[in-house]
Amino acid sequence: MTKTRIVKRSCGHDEIETNFVSAEIAAKKLCKDCWAKAQAEKNASTAASHNLPELTGSEKQVSWANDIRETLRLYIEAAEAGKTTGGPPVEKCLPIMANTEAKFFIDNRDAILKLEKKIIED
Ligand SMILES: [Zn+2]
Repeated sequence: MTKTRIVKRSCGHDEIETNFVSAEIAAKKLCKDCWAKAQAEKNASTAASHNLPELTGSEKQVSWANDIRETLRLYIEAAEAGKTTGGPPVEKCLPIMANTEAKFFIDNRDAILKLEKKIIED
């Protein structure tokens, strides 16, 4: 049987927790709703600061697609700086960034997420 307990998150909300971590760690985390909200805000601000179009789809799809698109954005940034090994040329990636459908990024996630390995870390 799974043990559960109620913990108070850093946002002040109570949440039922099933994986036991220390009370200290549990209290530092946001509850699921606040985490999703924070994640969406982070994605929106990343998109805004890089002039990316807003994605369309369900809240869940958009959040997931934003993470995938961020990988592509980082790849392009690295490729422009000559910090990639292999991988497609920037000219091929830029039109992909213009897609606004969350579903597109999710459907192509395998190809896009692979690009992360092509980035040369400093
Ligand atoms: Zn909360």
